[in-house]
Amino acid sequence: MAFHEEGRRLTQDQVHELHAHLCGTCGTSLDTMLNDWGLEEDDLTHDDLQEIDALMMICAACGWWCDTDEFCDSHDGNELICHQCAEDE
Ligand SMILES: [Zn+2]
Repeated sequence: MAFHEEGRRLTQDQVHELHAHLCGTCGTSLDTMLNDWGLEEDDLTHDDLQEIDALMMICAACGWWCDTDEFCDSHDGNELICHQCAEDE
């Protein structure tokens, strides 16, 4: 039985699985993975999303999922872009 912390829809294992599967892929939606677990992005709590955001982000320019530490500090407006896209500009 999976353990869920209060206010959370995802277990730690699931968050790490998302990270492992999504990072380095392009254009994969979070929903694709969540649907396998019978969930949708809308089902996730604020805490779930915050934890995902802390681990990985999708580049607003190229659509690649990257580790957050691979993201550039400089933002394109409010959009987060990866190092690769930041260098291309
Ligand atoms: Zn990019």
